[in-house]
This record gives sequence, structure tokens and C-alpha cells, in this order.
Amino acid sequence: MPVERSEPRSAEELHKYYELYETIGSGGFAKVKLGRHILTGEKVAVKIMNKKDLGDDLPRVKVEMEAMKNLSHQHICRLYQVIESPTQIFMILEYCPGGELFDYIIAKDRLSEEETRVFFRQIVSAMAYVHSQGYAHRDLKPENLLIDGDHNLKLIDFGLCAKPKGGLGYELMTCCGSPAYAAPELIQGKAYIGSEADVWSMGVLLFALLCGYLPFDDDNCMVLYRKITKGKYDNPNWLSPGSVLLLNQMMQVDPKRRVTVRQLLDHPWVTKDYNSPVEWYSQQPLGHIDEDCVTEMAVNMKRSRESTTALIREWHYDHLTATYLLLLSKKQRGKPVRLRREPLASEDAVSPLHGRSQTKKTLHFTDDDDAVVLGCVDLCSDYMDDCPWVSVTPKGAGEKTQRTIDDKRLASPLVDNRCVQTTTPEKGHAPAQHRQERKRRDRDPTCENKENVALQETDVEIFALPPPRTPASGKKHPRPGRSVLTTPNPSLSNGTRGTALTPKVGGSGSKELVKKKAAESKESTNLEILAFSPERRSRSLDMPASDSGKKKRAGRVFGSLERGLDKVITMLTPGKRRALRDGPRKIKAQYNVTLTGQTNPDQVLNQILSVLPSKHVDFSQKGYTVKCRTWDDYGKVTMAFELEVCLLHRPEVVGVRRQRLKGDAWVYKHLVEDILSTSSI
Ligand code: ADP
Repeated sequence: MPVERSEPRSAEELHKYYELYETIGSGGFAKVKLGRHILTGEKVAVKIMNKKDLGDDLPRVKVEMEAMKNLSHQHICRLYQVIESPTQIFMILEYCPGGELFDYIIAKDRLSEEETRVFFRQIVSAMAYVHSQGYAHRDLKPENLLIDGDHNLKLIDFGLCAKPKGGLGYELMTCCGSPAYAAPELIQGKAYIGSEADVWSMGVLLFALLCGYLPFDDDNCMVLYRKITKGKYDNPNWLSPGSVLLLNQMMQVDPKRRVTVRQLLDHPWVTKDYNSPVEWYSQQPLGHIDEDCVTEMAVNMKRSRESTTALIREWHYDHLTATYLLLLSKKQRGKPVRLRREPLASEDAVSPLHGRSQTKKTLHFTDDDDAVVLGCVDLCSDYMDDCPWVSVTPKGAGEKTQRTIDDKRLASPLVDNRCVQTTTPEKGHAPAQHRQERKRRDRDPTCENKENVALQETDVEIFALPPPRTPASGKKHPRPGRSVLTTPNPSLSNGTRGTALTPKVGGSGSKELVKKKAAESKESTNLEILAFSPERRSRSLDMPASDSGKKKRAGRVFGSLERGLDKVITMLTPGKRRALRDGPRKIKAQYNVTLTGQTNPDQVLNQILSVLPSKHVDFSQKGYTVKCRTWDDYGKVTMAFELEVCLLHRPEVVGVRRQRLKGDAWVYKHLVEDILSTSSI
């Protein structure tokens, strides 16, 4: 059978080669779903982006794809395939089932020096490789490090990386990255060396690993930036002298006095207990082609090994590249280097490397959103107004927030846990800050990642304007304290922990704050506005993502009132009714599960449900899973996460599984801590 090597023409390409499952994450630009590569049976992560929603951020995605095509390293998430249609982009990526390093840190409160060293060596390894390839990452933070199946770190999110034409020694100008992790020279708008700025971020990251909170933190970005430019932070007393020294060497305000990645490779703290420098070279160099994989593919394609090798060497990042890299990954994990030969039972026809026929009934796209879904189950989780997992929302735009299901029903999840409930915020007008940002982008629609553009003309102290405070953003300064998100971490001494964190969370005053900030932005005409997504304080500092798609989605949710609760209930499929009767899922204790010490799941569910409205969290409930969202004053979702009440085997108690889907990681941490502690869980 001849090999088709045409450019992917449409998103249908995705259906041919991959099965898609639930959403496993979402960022400022993308939704990420779990997928399975049919031919190898390997799990993958599918990053889905809608070009219309990307708007001016499209160049950022292109930068990320190009960088990931050039980088192949054991601690960098591998790109397998890119599928691009006129409206959508799909990146097929190595799947990292362990979640974000951020969640791992908060689950453990903080890590011991020994465990930190294991991770930090991997971060140094990845960064030494990235720099050796001429790139600066510029957005290092624990949310951008994922944990794979072997508990190893994989670096993601190269959308803000830079590869200066003259080499990494050349200065960069664009201020980007996440404010809390940004180097002083970067936020001051000075020209900076990318690798030096990365070392500062690595220092902040190292601090977060060892301490469980950020060295520089404040709700107000101006205050935050002043702290960063001063470079003053407190070392908690559990840090060893060696850790204090290393952090100090990395977080030097003067970049020329900062330790380099090269020096980190054999730094005494880094090599302690290892007695060997960090191995940073790639164990998977791009040039090497594996013979076993070639043979298997050649047999499948009925081609010679030579011509198969030649095709692989083209590195088109199409299905052929994906098949080769996934086979290689199987081999490296000691699995047989075999491709599926027989058609899948549910398929009408399969043409192995060319994909399967397009008649699969359950797979379909919607034309107005970016999600690819598998039947109703996925529809339910993605389109809340399209299926029994439905929002019941107030009528009319601008109407006050209100609840549409009475408290009695909520109080009894067993009777009524089919019910769904959300509240919606009042919608506002586009703030001055957004308009000003829009103007800036109009002047230079391609300023993203283009050096020497964003800050050239400014000669004043340059700070980003603070983002609007989200209703959920609470008091931070997570000073050492026992977190309710924490699972026992016996390696840490108890004496250093204080009381539970109960940050102030609430929407009061947030509007005033936004108004004040909008006014400030008008006044500050000579301040260059370095915009970042309003919902994230420690998320990437950059142009805000186009919100057109978000508005549309919000509109769909808001528009579903007419359906009414009764209709919702009658819409329940038999499968869903069964799911409710079956009770909570039984799962093993994992680090993203909070143990409650209680044995009645309904009680725990009720406790959570009763607390959410007071925390200004909108939610929809399906069985024992509660999907939560917070909104800003402009109708934009600032945070999305799930809380699932489940039963654990050992110990036999009720647990609450947490999963952040969108939003600032640290704000999420404080909000969920607050919800769970207020729920007396
Ligand atoms: P964006 O570019 O929009 O910020 P990210 O690439 O950061 O999106 O992905 C969003 C989230 O999706 C991540 O924070 C992570 O939780 C999840 N995710 C991304 N890539 C993977 C992956 N390869 N494996 C597992 N989860 C992933």
C-alpha cells in the first residue's frame, strides 16, 4: 500500500489516528485531552487550539511547535505530530500522567532537600540542553514541568522561548514569562540574556520546591516587582546552609553575578550524594534512527527499510514521525516494538499507517469550539449546556448572580445529585486596561516573541500593570503552614509547620480594585503595559489570549436557562442514572487526593456544596464530582477545577480528588485549601 505523505489537510486527520478521551488540562490557549495512538496503542496528550481564539497569539504557538521539533531530550516533553487545519491546531505530545510539579509540591506541602535535588538535577539537565541548542525558555515554573509515568520531569510550554539569531549571548528585550518567576532585569525592561533570566526563574522554582511557597509574592504586581528588583526574600529556618547559599547564588539581582547553568552542572549542592555532575546531553539525539522501529514500520508499510528510513529522516511531524517516535518510546520502556495489524473491533476499516476510515460513529467535532469529543460522555464534560451535565443559569445578561436550585436540594446529594447548579457573575465592560492593550497590539500585531519591540520606547521604570483580581484570589503569602491539600510527607520535620492556611477569599472589593486599576492605566500614559492574562498572577506574562471564544462559550452557558431543571433531569441518560446510583468512585490514595477522615461521602459532598457559594465559586455537579469555576468581572473564566468525592481503600475513608484545569496555580491552591478547610474536611 503506498504511503501517503501529504500535508494534513483537515482536523479529520486526528480521527484517523487517535482516540480521544477526557480533558486533562487547559491553559491560556489550549485544551489538552488524553488520547491514544491507535497503531501503537500508546497514550498521548492532545493539545487542541482554535486558531480564531488564538488571534494574535498564533505566532506564540508557531514558536512553540518549531522549538519542540528541534528539541529532543529525556526531560523535555516530546512532540510527536502536528495536525493543522484552517481553523484548528492539534499538537500530539508525550503524555505525562503524573500531572504538574506544582500540584506535587502543594500536595506534599514542600519537598525534602533530597527529593528536591532529584528533580532539580533534571531541571538543570533540561535547561543545559535547551541553552546548548540556543534557546532560552523564559517561562520556567512548576506548572510547566510535568511528571511522567516514571516520576521523571518533562519540561513543557515553549511558547515564550527565544532563539536569538546571534546566539544565546545576544540580548533579548521582550518582557515575558510569569511575573513571580521573572528576573529583575526582565521586568525592568532592560535588555537581558535569556539564559541568565532562566537561572533566576530556576532559583524561584528551587525555592518553591524547598519551601512550598514563592520567594517573591504579592497580590499587587507593582509591589511584587519592587520586591523582585530588590531581590530580598526570607529564608525559612528549615533550609540547610547549602540550600541558602545556592538560592542566593541563583537569585542575584545582578545577572552577571548569578551562577550559570554550566556551573550548576557540578555545583556542590547539586552533586551532593551523587558525586557526579548532571548528565545534560540528550539520550535521544534527533539524528539517530532506530533499526528495530524502522523494520517494524517497513513491514507495516510494505516498503524497503531504506525508503522507510529516508521518510522518517524527513521529520515532517506527521503520522509517520509520530508512529516512529511512539514505537521508539515503547522500545525504550522495554515493550515490544510492534504495530497493531488487525482492525479495531469498533472500526469499519483500518489502513494502518494511513489511518482508519472516517465513519466512526462516536467521534465528532463541533464547528464552534476547539474540543474534539468522544460521544456524549465527553460532550457532557465540555459543553455544559449540551447534555445532562447542564448549567441552570439566570435569565438575561447582566442579571445579578443568583442560584436557581434551592438549598434543600443541594443539601441532599443522594436524592438530587443529578442536579446541576451554577451561578453567573455580572458582566462588565471592557476595562481601560484591555482597550489600551488592544491599542498596543493594533500598533504591532505581531509583537509576540519579536525581540526589541515591546519595550524599546520606554525610558521609565517599567512594570506590568497588575491584573484584575479574580473573585477567587485570596490573601497569599502562604507562609509555612499545614495545608489541607497536603498528603503526609514524613520526610519533613513537623516543627516547621504552622496552622492551616485559610486565605481570605472573596469577591468583595474586586470590582473596585479593577476600576481603580483601569483608572491607573489611563493615567499611566508613559508606562508600557506588559499585559498578561488577567486570570493569572503567576501565569505567563504576555499578550492576553483572545477572549472571543470564551465569550461565546460563556454565552452558551448563560443562554441555557429556558431548559429548566426538569428538562435537565429528564435528559439524564440511563448510564448517568446508573452512575449516580453506583455511588462515589473507589480509588487509590494519590497525591492529588485529600483524605478527610470521614466515612460518609454524601456528608462530605454536602459540606463542599454548601461552602462553594460563599467562596464565589460557580459549580455544576454530576454525581460525586463538582466542576467549579470562578469568573472575573468581565465574564471570563479565571479558574476551573474539579473536586471529586471518592472512597479510598486504605485507609477506608472518604477522599476529595482535586484537579486544576485552568487558572493561576497558586491562587487555585489557596482557594481549594480555603474550600476544604471551611468545609471542615
Ligand atoms: P497553554 O500553552 O495553553 O498554557 P499548556 O501547554 O501549559 O497550555 O497545557 C495546559 C495544561 O495541560 C498543563 O498545565 C498540564 O496540566 C496539561 N498538559 C499539557 N501537556 C500535557 C502532557 N503532555 N501530558 C499531560 N498533561 C499535559
